[in-house]
Amino acid sequence: MMEKSSVDIFDENYSRVLERMTHAAEKAGKTADDITLLAATKTVNVDVINHAIKSGIEFIGENRVQEFLSKLPDYYPVHKHFIGHLQTNKVKDIVGRVELIHSVDSYHLAKEISKQSVKKNIISDILLEVNVGDEQSKYGFSICDISDNVEKICLLEGVKVRGLMAIPPISDTPYANKKYFDMLYKLFIDIRGQKTDNSSVDILSMGMSDDYETAIECGATMIRLGTALFGKRNYIV
Ligand SMILES: *Cc1c(COP(=O)(O)O)cnc(C)c1O
Repeated sequence: MMEKSSVDIFDENYSRVLERMTHAAEKAGKTADDITLLAATKTVNVDVINHAIKSGIEFIGENRVQEFLSKLPDYYPVHKHFIGHLQTNKVKDIVGRVELIHSVDSYHLAKEISKQSVKKNIISDILLEVNVGDEQSKYGFSICDISDNVEKICLLEGVKVRGLMAIPPISDTPYANKKYFDMLYKLFIDIRGQKTDNSSVDILSMGMSDDYETAIECGATMIRLGTALFGKRNYIV
């Protein structure tokens, strides 16, 4: 039998994902339209990404600055987000080229995004990344630092805090991360209620291929799927 093409794999996976999203959203008293599906496109060829866009994917997220810049001229029209760890010296390459940066993991980085945004005379929408499992290997603010940092970052010009993003610990069952998603939802509600000027908190970006249904049930407004849409990546990023 011939091996399935990446495009066929996507087509099959996409309809399954949409079904599952609908199901999970119903459980949360919502519809699939209330949840933004972002395709995590690291390592995925632009032709396959463009096929996904033609098929209905409206949001994509890239992880690496270099990879993003090299694909940038070729994407079909789509909402572009940055979701990977961002080094301060690369901020200038990203600001103005994406609609949302999910991975703001330090005040220092927020300050640089502010500086570059002011320079370009734009406002950059950002999410603060939470290291919800308190893992050494992961970037992000600890839960107890979020509220103070929202306050501080909202004082910066040129940035608008739109919410939170997190990558919980790797787990072997879809429900294992429920406790983290519940914590994140509570934190999201807390910062949404926080009185600040430069914020408009309405995005909770959590849930990946192995646990997106749980994330939706726990209140995610945006899920980020790579493997569940495009199949297994050939290498770890
Ligand atoms: C790769 C990646 C995803 C998607 O991961 P999958 O498990 O393949 O769905 C989501 N978010 C971030 C930040 C990623 O780097």
